[in-house]
Amino acid sequence: MKVVRFHAPGDVRFEDAPEPEAGPGEVKIRVRNCSTCGTDVKISKFGHHHIHPPRVMGHEIAGEIVQVGEGVDGWSAGDRVQVIAAIPCGDCPECVRGRMTICPNQVSMGYHFEGGFAQFMVVPKEVLKVDGLNRIPEGVSFAEASVAEPLACALNAQNLARVGEGDDVVVIGSGPIGCLHVRLARARGAARVFLVELSRQRLEMAANLVKPDAAICAGEVDPVEEVLKLTDGRGADVIITAAASGKAQEQAIQMAARQGRISFFGGLPKDNPTITCDSNLVHYRELTIVGANGSSPAHNAEALNLVATGAVPVADLITHRLPLESAIDAFGIVARGEAIKVTIEP
Ligand SMILES: [Zn+2]
Ligand SMILES: [Zn+2]
Repeated sequence: MKVVRFHAPGDVRFEDAPEPEAGPGEVKIRVRNCSTCGTDVKISKFGHHHIHPPRVMGHEIAGEIVQVGEGVDGWSAGDRVQVIAAIPCGDCPECVRGRMTICPNQVSMGYHFEGGFAQFMVVPKEVLKVDGLNRIPEGVSFAEASVAEPLACALNAQNLARVGEGDDVVVIGSGPIGCLHVRLARARGAARVFLVELSRQRLEMAANLVKPDAAICAGEVDPVEEVLKLTDGRGADVIITAAASGKAQEQAIQMAARQGRISFFGGLPKDNPTITCDSNLVHYRELTIVGANGSSPAHNAEALNLVATGAVPVADLITHRLPLESAIDAFGIVARGEAIKVTIEP
């Protein structure tokens, strides 16, 4: 079969690999869609300390079961499924308490296990053990289902930041994750959603799709001043930074309303993770700053449901569909910010 495999930083190859078989406790799928994101670009350029090459990349996976391994109940050939990306252990104190996104034993598809940029893929028993294989609801396409994983990550963040009825929400960063955050905040009853982005071109592409109440180009105006103007000086109830930018995180704190919640959704570069925070703003305004790390199996199931009910439409966010042999070109499209969501159809 054909796969897209990481060999070394800057060396990702479209090549042949033996077709895998489902062992005991495993399920084999024919991958129908595996979507790309910024993480794939990062891996292809810099590698990752959890990836021992060669490794098939790809973690936003949807497909069709073609073989069910010994001892697997409840699944059969032909079932349409979505696969979680981050796999918690299910046994540690965090998992037992239902905090699966922060499982210290977490492993991942496309890192520890062969990923979805392939014609076929084995779903490891570790995924089945934690209920990480989800049936795709009727009416949801494979492409839409592959976007459930990033949506699940957004869902985790908005739960932690308590996005709800009547909130003014600012999303900083207008990539696919930023667009999902805008849509999800609306589904949760936000009063207004403002989208902030450095690049005018990227901002317009995203704003045309997700129609924020205001689209603020941080390359042209001061986003803190703009948000304060839009909220009569009050600030925003929730700010989500969907960008790998320390400056965005600092601005998020400055534009927060009293009792505002700030989600540092996007991580910062490993060699530059420090920001300046006026601690007195946090103290006097009773701000909450929360991180967000991936998603749990339950978040993935809920995300699929949000897509199925139409609460969070994702079909129009998929702007590019490419065959497996173009996956490497797809990373370039993602890196240059020319697309919202690029999906690969092996
Ligand atoms: Zn991703
Ligand atoms: Zn665990």
